[in-house]
Amino acid sequence: MSCELTRRFVPCYGDGELDLVRTIEMETHLKHCLDCAQQLESQQEVRFALRRSSLAYAAPAVLRDRIQSSLRASSRIDVQERKLKWPSVHIWQWAGAVAVLALFSLSGWQLTARLRAPSSDQRIAGEVFSSHVRSLEANHLMDVVSTDQHTVKPWFDGKLDFSPPVEDLASDGFPLVGGRLDYLEGREVAALVYQRRKHFINVFVWPDPAGTNSSQAIESRQGYNMVRWSHGGFDFWAASDVAAPDLTEFVRLLETRISSEPK
Ligand SMILES: [Zn+2]
Repeated sequence: MSCELTRRFVPCYGDGELDLVRTIEMETHLKHCLDCAQQLESQQEVRFALRRSSLAYAAPAVLRDRIQSSLRASSRIDVQERKLKWPSVHIWQWAGAVAVLALFSLSGWQLTARLRAPSSDQRIAGEVFSSHVRSLEANHLMDVVSTDQHTVKPWFDGKLDFSPPVEDLASDGFPLVGGRLDYLEGREVAALVYQRRKHFINVFVWPDPAGTNSSQAIESRQGYNMVRWSHGGFDFWAASDVAAPDLTEFVRLLETRISSEPK
């Protein structure tokens, strides 16, 4: 892995977003490259500094006293009210309240657990991002170089267990330039390569067993834009450094072309 690529991945590495292969490549590089190791160290220092409590301000003593005395006052009122109300409250109402509280804290805990774990979309976004960057860096953008969709489409036959939709958008300023096999989400996927002036767009395609049609969602990572959507039994992810409006326009044109193709 090159220094440039390593540095681009350092934040993802720190967030634990890299896949196993890239993590190993990264750690191997860090062992031998002092500059990159220092880069990682300084990023981690920032991370720890943000976590340290020294960034929080201590409340002045006057404010603390005022809050404590008002809390004491309100708890005195509370106790008096409870003494008055307690005999009228049925035991089942309390049991019910305890059950509801337990339910809330359980779902709260589940929610926090879910928020902490990266969602599958975030995980795929991480994989798409690194595959895109890697295809450009490692000079492995295309296995089949052709601007002809009738050459690119059959090239995938026998290499994948599905036939990806392949369209050329040269007339719209996004010529198809080739394709290759890639690996995402633990499976082989088709990567179609398009060009916009001097920039490349990778379109990753694989079957969506759920067959859902979902509209486009865009996200950005370190100067790259990614658009994901599902259509006609396929999941699509487009990744590029072309500007977001250009990329969404490309996706719209591609979607229109795929939809108009006879099944
Ligand atoms: Zn390095």
